[in-house]
Amino acid sequence: MIQIDVPGKKEKLLIEHLVLDFNGTLAVDGRIKPGVAGLLRALAAQVQVHILTAGTFGGVEEQVAGIPCVLKVLSGADQTAQKAEYVAALGAGRTACIGNGRNDREMLRQARLGIAVIQEEGAAIDSLTAADVACLDIAAALQLLLHPLRLTATLRV
Ligand SMILES: [Mg+2]
Repeated sequence: MIQIDVPGKKEKLLIEHLVLDFNGTLAVDGRIKPGVAGLLRALAAQVQVHILTAGTFGGVEEQVAGIPCVLKVLSGADQTAQKAEYVAALGAGRTACIGNGRNDREMLRQARLGIAVIQEEGAAIDSLTAADVACLDIAAALQLLLHPLRLTATLRV
């Protein structure tokens, strides 16, 4: 579990699950970004990592091999709702989400902690405003969770 103190708020954030979008968030052009696997392995010691993907570029299983995670490949329509339902089933109140696309907006909104990342694909404005924090890249976002005092500073009321 990751514990984040937010001065000015009564309750600490207690995070047990980390749900991540794949394309545009962990990967660019279907390939996982350098350094991401190591950061996720470090985080997996503290939280359960979940990776959600539509598998647009294929080969996601290969890309995430070696990362202790639950991989959920989505199919069919309304992936916004599918992602939000996945987070709701885990318990949104104890989940952090990281995403970039428009279909990440509802999971980012409902999660206890939503982080939008911009990177090469950009971030949908709806998802930026639904998140609690925006980061330029995934490494910075994952480092926030590995160093929760950084989040304390950002989220201070
Ligand atoms: Mg994406």
